[in-house]
Amino acid sequence: MSLTFEHVTLGQRVLFGTGKAAENLASEVSRFGARRVMVIASESESSIAGEVAAGIEVALNYDDVAPHVPIEKAGKARAAAAEHRIDLLVCVGGGSTTGLAKAIALTSGLPIVAVPTTYAGSEATNVWGLTEAARKSTGVDDKVLPATVIYDANLTLSLPVELSVASGLNGMAHCIDSMWGPRVDPINRALAAEGIRALNQGLPAIVKDPAGLEGREQALYGAYLSAVAFASAGSGMHHKICHVLGGTWNMPHAQTHATVLPYVLAFNTPEAPDAAERIAAAFGTADPVDGLNRLRETLDAPKALKDYGFTEENIAEAVDLILPVIPASNPRTPTAANLTALLQAATAGDDPKTLTDF
Ligand code: NAD
Repeated sequence: MSLTFEHVTLGQRVLFGTGKAAENLASEVSRFGARRVMVIASESESSIAGEVAAGIEVALNYDDVAPHVPIEKAGKARAAAAEHRIDLLVCVGGGSTTGLAKAIALTSGLPIVAVPTTYAGSEATNVWGLTEAARKSTGVDDKVLPATVIYDANLTLSLPVELSVASGLNGMAHCIDSMWGPRVDPINRALAAEGIRALNQGLPAIVKDPAGLEGREQALYGAYLSAVAFASAGSGMHHKICHVLGGTWNMPHAQTHATVLPYVLAFNTPEAPDAAERIAAAFGTADPVDGLNRLRETLDAPKALKDYGFTEENIAEAVDLILPVIPASNPRTPTAANLTALLQAATAGDDPKTLTDF
């Protein structure tokens, strides 16, 4: 079969090195010729940010960060950047902090140097998100893609194991959902497969030795690959389900992803032999669902949606909301009946493999 595809590679400089964040940031600031740097980090991330920014002159330290970027917080941060005549944004923290820097860049066009401290992956996408009156809107704009990303595994050592696992499985969901996303192509599949391999190696190592750097480096590397693959392939069935559950029933983001993922994988596997083979190979198992389940057991990952407030009674409404938004690219055609079966199994925490017989 001939190879025919369209792929967009997002232009971004990536500096990866443990113990090198401060040095790399100083050289980026001089490369940009920046004179008025705004460092964004939440209160709990401010000591990490202080270390990273030790070698640069900071015009404004900004810590008014909140999850999902409330529009009022974005407005205040934009005004502060303008008032201080900022010429470079530096964000040090998780996806919420990166999100605030993106909100400023969206309206100002200011460049961002992102220094991520979780595995959320926002730093490698051109997707922004803002929340207004409890409704989250997202959009795509190349202005919000950080110009440079600085990865330093030392900065993730303080991320508690439970958060590391949840955040890392969020990265795993980016990889697996990329395999059948609406713009899937051979390049994002290759990146996603390498991301699965790295996360499958890194996350158990973090659980075993939270103070060790090897697992942290692999997880950070895998998280970056997962985000690049996902930004290119687009949101697949898994993310559509989690978006609806999160938005409608206020389910916790990472736990919902960790729980739903094996069910979507088992659901699509029979109709997606190529993706199934790539995913299994990346896990080093014969079967992709076995590979993911083995990892989830090692990590003691969340198992049932009922543990996070979702009930059997919610399933019919969830099916109505999810069915119309599943991309046409999904390998197995979703129906009200098979989506109901998927949500029933995920709610109860049943064996995902029951979904492969149809
Ligand atoms: P988060 O940024 O809210 O961080 C979670 C918590 O961990 C916070 O309290 C934070 O202060 C703390 N923390 C971060 N790094 C730490 C460290 N090294 N040590 C100790 N504590 C640390 O959560 P997240 O999971 O990183 O990001 C989730 C957000 O990112 C969501 O709003 C999600 O929608 C968004 N997101 C956006 C994209 C995108 O492409 N736009 C991609 C992924 C996620």
